[in-house]
Amino acid sequence: MINHERDKNEVNMKEYIKKLYKDSKETYFKEMDLWLGSGNKKIIVTVNPETLMLSEKNNNLKKLMDSKCASLVPDGIAVVKASKWVKSPVLERITGIEVSEELLMLANKNKHSLYLLGAKEEVVSSLANKIKVEYPSIKLLGYTNGYVKDLDKEMNKISKLKPDILLVALGIPMQEELIYRHMNEFNKGIIVGVGGSFDVLSGTKKRAPKIFIKLNLEWLYRIIKEPSRLKRFWNSNVKFIFKVRKEK
Ligand code: UDP
Repeated sequence: MINHERDKNEVNMKEYIKKLYKDSKETYFKEMDLWLGSGNKKIIVTVNPETLMLSEKNNNLKKLMDSKCASLVPDGIAVVKASKWVKSPVLERITGIEVSEELLMLANKNKHSLYLLGAKEEVVSSLANKIKVEYPSIKLLGYTNGYVKDLDKEMNKISKLKPDILLVALGIPMQEELIYRHMNEFNKGIIVGVGGSFDVLSGTKKRAPKIFIKLNLEWLYRIIKEPSRLKRFWNSNVKFIFKVRKEK
């Protein structure tokens, strides 16, 4: 890559870190409640090292993060640390699972409508059943697994239902790219890419024990449980940390 292009990308990565939500989770969740009440459109992007590394090459991801209705939250301890290195500190991490859980609570409280897109059929259907029991006031408009042939067609159909909340659980960057391609079809509501959250929320997979979460070692738990994640971890987190430290 020629030098000026590389510099431009590195500046972008820092710019995204600077744009991350800085205040507490509690305050952010109050803002989500207000957005839902306002009828405006918001796209939440949970930003982790993988997001930032991919944003250097993935134009649609970049455009989604640049869009006016995007709200970027720090998802992961590496991003929280990096925010300090670039002198734009964020208070704490806000994960996809936490955002999803809070949205379910808010939707239940205010009778909002919801659509679930992503994960395996047995995962998303058991999550849908759980929601019907545990969050009875949510208007569940429907759900679709993330392995259907034409996800674009699916998004198009979902946009016509005008959900207050759309959770997209396809993993990064697939979920962000899909959201980017269809964001203009939505006029209101919160859309968020939540990665593997349906697996955890449905009870199919366990989130890390509280002690791992408290010590900011959730990433380690995920690698122990799924060693195949190690390569992905190296390519995103480790390279990211070296990169930001070198450039700071
Ligand atoms: N997934 C999907 N369709 C695909 C590929 C993945 O619905 O074509 C789902 C997968 O079943 C899982 C989620 O996307 O529920 C990705 O989970 P992962 O833990 O890899 O995401 P992370 O939270 O690490 O971004």
